[in-house]
Amino acid sequence: MSEPLLDRRDRLLGPRLTTFYDEPVHLVRGAGTKLWDAEGREYLDCYNNVPHVGHCHPKVVEAICRQAGTLNTHTRYLHEGIVAFAEDLTATFAEPLNAMTFTCTGSEANDIALRMARAVTGKRGIIATDHTYHGNTDAVSQLSCTNPPPDRWDSVEFVPAPDSYRPITAASWAAHVEAAIRRLEERGHGVAALIICPFFANEGFPDLPEGWVLPAVEAVRRAGGLVIADEVQPGFGRLGTHFWGHEKAGVVPEIVTLGKPMGNGHPVAGVVTERRVMEAFRDTFRYFNTFAGNPVSMAAAQATLDVIREEELQENARAVGEYARDGLRDLAGRHACIGDVRGAGLFLGAELVLDRSEKTPATEFTKKVANALRHKGVLMNFLGIHYNVLKIRPPMVFSRDDADRMLDAVDEALGEVPLA
Ligand code: PMP
Repeated sequence: MSEPLLDRRDRLLGPRLTTFYDEPVHLVRGAGTKLWDAEGREYLDCYNNVPHVGHCHPKVVEAICRQAGTLNTHTRYLHEGIVAFAEDLTATFAEPLNAMTFTCTGSEANDIALRMARAVTGKRGIIATDHTYHGNTDAVSQLSCTNPPPDRWDSVEFVPAPDSYRPITAASWAAHVEAAIRRLEERGHGVAALIICPFFANEGFPDLPEGWVLPAVEAVRRAGGLVIADEVQPGFGRLGTHFWGHEKAGVVPEIVTLGKPMGNGHPVAGVVTERRVMEAFRDTFRYFNTFAGNPVSMAAAQATLDVIREEELQENARAVGEYARDGLRDLAGRHACIGDVRGAGLFLGAELVLDRSEKTPATEFTKKVANALRHKGVLMNFLGIHYNVLKIRPPMVFSRDDADRMLDAVDEALGEVPLA
């Protein structure tokens, strides 16, 4: 018998490379919100934000193929595609966010953002939340508390992840940020930046009112630091009411980082910032990235942005997201384990608890529910401070029928999986 794919993967790629689910899924094909495995079984994708406008969207596939058959080079030549796309994308941001540079991954984008903040402020300190993820470069992995690096830099400070279910106030969060600034100043670093996902996606996307982060942001700015908004997850219209997560949060950052959904699966990412920040960065670092912003990447990114507009996917996210959230609230009427339903647009979920009065996180149960859903042909996952929040973040072409199928499966799984 031939060696199973999972064993070959472990042998060649290393044993601790994570897979989702107790029984990993072997996918071979995708279209829209659907995926198929090697046995021909269909799954509803409720999780993947990388295929933002739908798996294998024909317009994006066609744009990639056409450009790949015409020209693909590194970026030291002139090419219309990169400039046209930068013009188009930066126009979606409020002034003074009108300059950008390209990378291939969100990690690289955040790495550059940290360097930009340091170049502009002349300071080194960075503040992040204690339950976030911003990527995997040596510098950016310093910002992880959940997967700590062996050699933590002295110039990084953490503040508690915001929570709306076991709430902390904006004022107390700002006080945590102020204390972090003081510690960085005492150690001689000062504060270069506060880096946040404006939707606090990895923290479990708490429902925070517009402006909630502003007292903390003002404290950072008073101390001479900048704000970096990591839009890798909430950006490109996903939240329904706003194109960018920081707009919904009510803050204009100095630096915005982009990734995952930008090329619908093609590895293209970037950093948008003010011209003065870009100039300081270019004066300080001779940054060049061979693949970033190449003609094929730009064709993928441009086609993705065009489809978001043509198919009015931000509005779809708003309408279908509201419908799905209402459906989850109905389920909460029947399933006491649903402690909280929250989110915005097509980024929503439910926090599962053992009992509503104590809000005891049902962490093991949530994992079992995600596995049960996988066996029902519905793919989602879980995250949050206690890893007990079902995370629903599907391609933006998710329909009401898809939402019904998802809700039926969640209803069934919550009824079948034993709580304790
Ligand atoms: N920032 C956030 C908020 C992310 O969720 C991720 C990836 N999960 C990254 C950055 C890193 O992006 P990439 O994997 O493309 O390097």
